[in-house]
Amino acid sequence: MPSTTWADAHGLCTFVDASPSPFHVCATVSMLLTGNGFTELRETDSWPGEPGRYFLVRGGSLIAWSTEGVGRTAPFRIVGGHTDSPNLRVKQHPDLSSAGWQLVGLEPYGGAWLNSWLDRDLGISGRLSVRAGNAVEEKLVRVDEPILRVPQLAIHLSEDRKGVHLDPQRHLNAVWGVGPERRPFIDFVADRAEVPADAVLGWELMTHDLAPSTLVGTEQDLVSAPRLDNQGTCYAGTQALLAAAENPGDHVPVLALFDHEEVGSMSDRGAFSDLLSTVLERIVLGRGGGREEFLQTMAGSICASGDMAHATHPNYPDRHEPAHHIAVNGGPVLKVNQNLRYATDAAGAGAFALACDQAGVPLQRYVHRADLPCGSTIGPITASRTGLSTVDVGAAQLGMHSSRELMGARDVRAYSDALAAFLTPTA
Ligand code: ZN
Repeated sequence: MPSTTWADAHGLCTFVDASPSPFHVCATVSMLLTGNGFTELRETDSWPGEPGRYFLVRGGSLIAWSTEGVGRTAPFRIVGGHTDSPNLRVKQHPDLSSAGWQLVGLEPYGGAWLNSWLDRDLGISGRLSVRAGNAVEEKLVRVDEPILRVPQLAIHLSEDRKGVHLDPQRHLNAVWGVGPERRPFIDFVADRAEVPADAVLGWELMTHDLAPSTLVGTEQDLVSAPRLDNQGTCYAGTQALLAAAENPGDHVPVLALFDHEEVGSMSDRGAFSDLLSTVLERIVLGRGGGREEFLQTMAGSICASGDMAHATHPNYPDRHEPAHHIAVNGGPVLKVNQNLRYATDAAGAGAFALACDQAGVPLQRYVHRADLPCGSTIGPITASRTGLSTVDVGAAQLGMHSSRELMGARDVRAYSDALAAFLTPTA
């Protein structure tokens, strides 16, 4: 019997298992928001002038905010994150056969740690574009059956028994059966989505590991799950927004979750798009403000860009900056990079450190080794697109970009508490 259980970590597991694709992240967050009094707005409609709790979805991105109890020109407090995670995605002509096997052609999305996708029972999720008369409709689909598997080479067949180099073109196709040619894979997916196969006009389909998320360790103080980068932030950010909406201050709390971070953010809905700045301006305009008020509001606003951080790895401590030890269950992480791979400056650091202090959680400070290239995230992009003061933050994890990642169970609550305090600064 574990000595402790962590309610928020269980919530994260449920969230991740419900969200195998960016589109499903948006659906899961939408459900949580709707259940807490938020109303979905469409970009093609005019927006209500009265204060309230609102959100919108653009593809795999979502922005939510609450103007309840907040003045008309109140500045924004924004928590950012990303909905996408590296994985293997289905090609346009996926049906292949080789050596008597029937295969589904896959290719990597983002910087997937390819070895981690081998020998796992995989399902499929994403969205279909479906013909409906003379229109095209979107249909979410998920198949949680173990239909696909990317089999590893036997160690006896590798050249030196030290493992094989994985070629993303040749070695990542999934088997889904043997024997004579099957019906097209997309027809199978259409069947599961309950749409006619000949009505499917386009798709974004991706694989997911079917092993459920779980707490691990004798004290159950670790979370083992896929997609913690960056659903750890999507979950904590959503919890933070819900808390902030219940406790209005003198800022408008905003949650901004973007698709396509793992591939550079350049899309209609990525952090490089106009999505965030358009929504923020429409919030001000919708409440009767003008461009001048919008710009004034922006000048007093600040963004915490949330993305997962590297905990110091026990088997590879030499890969980490020795004076910047990062512990799981050690509290949220402030990410600083002198070459602006992270957007954090002293002003942003001050705002987040104060929020951690007010939330009563410890703060850790991350710096990448100076002799290793540092990853990046949406912070520098939203900062340069909007001019908002920005701070890059996260929660510590191991195995980033593996199909299965590991973080601290206690960090889930600490992270969402810190983000909630950031969204509702007290004067
Ligand atoms: Zn990330």
